Amino acid sequence: MADERVIAEEAGSEDQTIDLTLRPRRLSEYVGQEAIKQNLKIALAAAKQRRESIEHILLHGNPGLGKTTLAYVIAHELGAGIRVTSGPAIERAGDLAAILTSLADGDILFIDEMHRLNRTIEEVLYPAMEDFKLDLVVGKGPGARTIRLDLPKFTLIGATTRMSALSSPLRDRFGLTFRLDYYRPEDVEQIVKRSGSILGVALAPEAAAEIARRSRRTPRVANRLLKRVRDYVAVKAGNGPVSPALAAKALEALAIDTLGLDEIDRRILETIIDKFGGGPVGLGTIAAAVAEETETLEEVYEPFLLQLGFLGRTPRGRVVTAEAYKHLGRRPPATAQPIGI
Ligand code: ADP
Repeated sequence: MADERVIAEEAGSEDQTIDLTLRPRRLSEYVGQEAIKQNLKIALAAAKQRRESIEHILLHGNPGLGKTTLAYVIAHELGAGIRVTSGPAIERAGDLAAILTSLADGDILFIDEMHRLNRTIEEVLYPAMEDFKLDLVVGKGPGARTIRLDLPKFTLIGATTRMSALSSPLRDRFGLTFRLDYYRPEDVEQIVKRSGSILGVALAPEAAAEIARRSRRTPRVANRLLKRVRDYVAVKAGNGPVSPALAAKALEALAIDTLGLDEIDRRILETIIDKFGGGPVGLGTIAAAVAEETETLEEVYEPFLLQLGFLGRTPRGRVVTAEAYKHLGRRPPATAQPIGI
């Protein structure tokens, strides 16, 4: 099963190298998210004008929507250095202290998965973010004392997929907060075209749109599907431009349907229908029934199904909507919920 998971698979090393090549470096290359780009441009220009570092920025949104990419873009636009780490990687206060003291003035510190930062580390982060000070406890027992170190004027860019899991004191310390949304279909198409030209994949007109349509409005998925199409075409059809029909065939071979649902999405919906009468049913119960982790379900699969209007959230759990029944080729029961509940 693992190798079939195009949507949620962990990035392998080949993926990572390609990701680096495909990652936009400048704001002008960053497709879509217009409102965020507008606000960022102003903040960047103002910071440059004042010769100050830009305020701390919090980015939130589903996986693969471009949070990490945006952090690199901001660093690049500022001509600043960037250090990248993640919430779970910072285990002890000392780990954070080592990172903070190694920064230079104006540097960006990017912390991914901010919601997984533990509370003790958060406490160290507060004075660092507010006053650029680091409180260190030296020694142990009765002789222990705290010393206060000056830190360089860095900018923290935090990313999270779960805004609600972030403590409010931490949230409040960010000057700018941006929510990345699913991309418009035409933006995803542009990303596919851009990536195709970087990877040297000749796409016939409409083939990019076909790939984009199945990409869950998410750049990371779009790039992954493009790579799968490229491989399929190389093996099955030799060189030559990829036609929309060929792109569709390649993606169908991966069990990715016209809306971008994969085998696991369908299994989730079918399980709720067949085992739980269409819901309502709790997320944990669904996760156990489809043998997925609750977190993956919540962060990777559910948001897109909600966005499509295929799943509804009720106080008693998730329900499958009439639209989803129809998409799966099933007859919705009279009690099935309409879309948008
Ligand atoms: P996140 O950090 O939100 O999980 P990433 O920043 O790692 O997402 O983005 C995943 C991939 O999608 C990147 O490697 C990049 O190539 C592509 N990507 C993301 N956002 C954009 C964008 N706005 N324009 C073009 N490509 C993008």
